[in-house]
Parts: sequence; C-alpha cells; structure tokens
Amino acid sequence: MYGPSQRRPQKRWVLSRDGMIPKERDLMNDVVLTGDRPTGPLHLGHYFGSLANRVRLQDLHPMYVLIADYQVITDRDLPGEIRRHTMELLLDYLAIGIDPAKVTIFQHSAIPELNQLLLPFLSLVSVAELGRNPTVKDEIAHSSQAAVSGLMFTYPVHQAADILFCKGTLVPVGKDQLPHLEVARLVARRFNDRYGEVFPLPKAMMGAQPMLKGLDGGKMSKSRGNAIALSATEDKTALLIRKARTDAERLITFEEERRPEVANLLTLAGLCLGRPPAELAEEIGDGGAATLKRVATEAVNEFLRPIRRRRAELTEGDARRILAEGNERARERAVRTLEEVRAAMGF
Ligand code: ATP
Ligand code: MG
Repeated sequence: MYGPSQRRPQKRWVLSRDGMIPKERDLMNDVVLTGDRPTGPLHLGHYFGSLANRVRLQDLHPMYVLIADYQVITDRDLPGEIRRHTMELLLDYLAIGIDPAKVTIFQHSAIPELNQLLLPFLSLVSVAELGRNPTVKDEIAHSSQAAVSGLMFTYPVHQAADILFCKGTLVPVGKDQLPHLEVARLVARRFNDRYGEVFPLPKAMMGAQPMLKGLDGGKMSKSRGNAIALSATEDKTALLIRKARTDAERLITFEEERRPEVANLLTLAGLCLGRPPAELAEEIGDGGAATLKRVATEAVNEFLRPIRRRRAELTEGDARRILAEGNERARERAVRTLEEVRAAMGF
C-alpha cells in the first residue's frame, strides 16, 4: 500500500510495434535467438545444452530459431544431404515441442539481408581477434578438411549477424558458444559506438548441462560420431551405450576426474531421470558396467519415447510449410534492421 508520503511509482508507457506497452515490460522484453547447423540430427547434448531452455522460453518471449545452413560450409563441402538435414532439424524441433505459432523458424540461405550484415560487422573486428577464438581453434582441430577456410575464421561474426538481425538479447547456447557470444557483444558495442545506438547487447543463457560429453568422452557433437540422436531408435540407442567405454572397477561411483567414462554415463542417465548422478551410482553399487549401461539405456529411451513418438506423427509437408512461413517473417525483420543499419552508417 502507498502511504500519503509515498509517491506511487509512475508507470511509463512506450509505443511499440504492438501498440502501447509499459516501459518496464519493454525493458524486460527479451528477444530470444538460437540455432543449429543442419549437419545431422539433434542429440542429447543439444537437448540439455539448449533445446530444453528454448521450449521454456517460447512462452515468455518472442523467439527466433535459425537453421544455420550457410555455416555448414565453414568446415565441409556443402553435402548433398543438406535438404535432408534441414528437414531432420525441423522435425526434431517440432518433436521436442517448439511451437511454430510462437517461434519463427528460418534458414540463413533464405534471408539475404541477414547475411549482408556480415560486411559492416567484419569491419569492426580485427584479424587478431578472429584468430584467437578458442572455439574456432577447437573446430579447426576436429575438421576433416585439409585447409582452413576464411569462412571458418569469420563465422563468429556471421553469428553476430544471426543474433543482431532480430535484435536478439537472450541466446540459449552450450558452453562452446560463449566465445562467439563475446564476439556478438563486441560487434554490437563497436557498431553502437561508431554509428549510434542500434543494437542491444545479447546475453548467453546456458542450460542444465552446458557441455554434455559424447560416448567417447569428447564434446557430444553431430560431426564426431559420439552422439545419441533424439531420433535414434531404441535399439540403436542401446547399441551406442553398450559400445561406450567404461573401466574395470565393479563398484560404480560418480568421480568425474578419476572415472570420466563412468561419470559420463551416470550424468546422461541422471539428466534423463532428473536425478543426481551420485545417487544413481549408489543405487547401482557393485552392479558393474553392465548394470550402469542398462540403467542409462532405459533412462534415455524412456525420456525420449514421447519425443520420438511425436516425431513419427509429423509430416514433411507440414515442416516445409512452417519453414516457408518462418523464412518470410524472419526476412521482414532482417529488412527492417538492414535499413536501420544503412541509415545509421549514412549510406
Ligand atoms: P557440429 O558437430 O556440426 O558442429 P554440434 O553438435 O556441435 O554440431 P551445433 O549445431 O554446432 O551442434 O550447436 C548447436 C547448439 O547446441 C549450440 O548452442 C551448442 O552450444 C549446443 N551444443 C552442441 N553440442 C553440445 C553439447 N555437447 N553440450 C551442450 N550443448 C551443446
Ligand atoms: Mg558445433
């Protein structure tokens, strides 16, 4: 209650595209942008690193989800499978519960105005800054290409364009993306300093498991053959987990440093069951690797069952229509931002 001496806080209103909204709400009104490269089906690393947050955030904020098809050619020749991978990604999104009525799903190659932002943005970063990005270095180390492409070095700046074209402020990502988020912030800050306030500074948002390891102990990754795909069959999932490395000790304990392989399977099972991995270890006790793998397989398959069931009900026709609509909406947004950028720069 407000006493006579207390002034009631003033509600200030601002004009937005959707009409008048309270100033406070405008300040809190984050725009969410995330995306994935269409290089293969989504996996559990994506789910616990970023997808779960997306599903939660779609009810709270405007959200864009990018199928980053131009980024496929950073480290590989454009595979003939690009259409299939794009379709798989779309079906995965819909299956995990991304709602196309709330979320704009779109692809790089359909939005020329987004890609054009790369030109002014590249002028704002130095070659040295591009060269010391740790994630780019890691991706180069795992690339199968003989030579490193120029696009590989500039792709964090491309990602800045992905985020800033829609004035994204909140970016649900895995840990590997943090250096790229820094580049996006740097680009936004420098652009604003040089040409006037156009871009908000985006923030990263990490999921429950910012870096889920794959079945070989490295980062679970579409390209490294160590992932459990959301869309894999139950048998394939069982086979992958059966082949995962463990150690010779019979008593199962959760020791990330000393027993990384065992800890990783416990983590996977724990995430799927929503339970602490150490508690699962205690339950398995001296059941050995065989019990651990059985528990992990059941946990993963059970967790993914409804997602897999929904995916089987979706048709490619629906997915194509959803993408076409998303591309149209994203393009409208990109056209407006590019106009603003050109005007700010005095073109
Ligand atoms: P690729 O091997 O083709 O690069 P990827 O598996 O690394 O594929 P991306 O499309 O590069 O997947 O990443 C999409 C999003 O998922 C990013 O936000 C990334 O941080 C997140 N992500 C990817 N792998 C993991 C992981 N193992 N744990 C947590 N988050 C992850
Ligand atoms: Mg990657």
